[in-house]
Amino acid sequence: MPTEILNILKNTDIEIIASLKNILAGAKLNVAIVPHENPDGDAIGSALGLGEILADFGHNVNIVSPNDYPGFLKWFGSEVNVIKYSASKKEGKAAINNADVLICVDFNDASRAGILEKKILKFDKIKILIDHHPYPTDFCDFTISETTYSSTAELIFDIVNQIGLQNNITKNSAEALYTGILTDTGSFSHNTSRPNTFKVVSELMKFGIDTKKIQSGVYDNFSVNRMKLLGYCLNEKMQVFPEYRAAVITISKEELEEFDFNPGDTEGFVNYPLSIKGIVFSVLFIEKKELVKASFRSKGNFPTNKFASENFNGGGHLNASGGESKLTLQETLDMFTQLLPEFKHLLLETEI
Ligand code: 5GP
Ligand code: MN
Repeated sequence: MPTEILNILKNTDIEIIASLKNILAGAKLNVAIVPHENPDGDAIGSALGLGEILADFGHNVNIVSPNDYPGFLKWFGSEVNVIKYSASKKEGKAAINNADVLICVDFNDASRAGILEKKILKFDKIKILIDHHPYPTDFCDFTISETTYSSTAELIFDIVNQIGLQNNITKNSAEALYTGILTDTGSFSHNTSRPNTFKVVSELMKFGIDTKKIQSGVYDNFSVNRMKLLGYCLNEKMQVFPEYRAAVITISKEELEEFDFNPGDTEGFVNYPLSIKGIVFSVLFIEKKELVKASFRSKGNFPTNKFASENFNGGGHLNASGGESKLTLQETLDMFTQLLPEFKHLLLETEI
């Protein structure tokens, strides 16, 4: 078993796995699971997948999400209680205060949990981090950070097996974990160079998961307004800079209102410009109440996370990262275009 651990969980000491086994496969506990703010498919899929497995084992599990998650992630057949902290603070506080164990999934720093940051930092019982983002900070007692993994969901499957809870995987939890892998790989189009990703998927298939249902639940579940907003963005708001192999889309608050925006509606927009021949760097700026939210995507080895951390107070993966700007939307766009010459060399030499 130890060599097996070293083969897949390369960054994780055997002692950590042994400790997690003692904690999570032992006495019945109150467990709170927290995904990152504005949770995506991997954050919600990981939280629900792990939550279902721990509940099946007998733990009392609550998922406390910092805020609501997109409608296209609401078809899960989960029985685990999901509390949206921004709307149900009292219930969320109680779930965290009563927890013996707090498990953070799919983020690398407490600040990524937004409104829950302070509660996570103050939590003084057992804190566990399970994540695949680079550069995790030291805010948990047990940190599992495996950056080669496609998704936190794939990582959770391996951890669950290592700690002996494989018999507690159900169809619902397998579907949730599959959703995390599906969405973080863009339907298996990126981060899929490791055989383990497909090995885990094939294991999940054995639980009778309905991949067709999941595919249409995630990707064919949008509103008319979302499709129109996408069309508008591509037609009217996308600027392409072929000389830098880059493209950018900006969306203002007014435009979001015009298209009756719902959380999650802009999910995936940033990927579209990467389908243009030669484009290796795509950026989406969305004007929010007090800041401009930035999303960065790239192909090849252009490090969007470096670009995000150096210029937009953000971070993430090499090919998918995010950040923010306190400037106006126009000023943010100007700043971005002024930055491009600095990165021209890197952008032009990116191999795809
Ligand atoms: P998205 O563009 O979908 O919001 O985020 C893409 C990736 O970048 C995610 O893996 C997410 O964890 C990371 N990310 C997004 N926004 C931020 C941010 O403000 N700070 C940091 N450190 N990472 C971010
Ligand atoms: Mn993820």
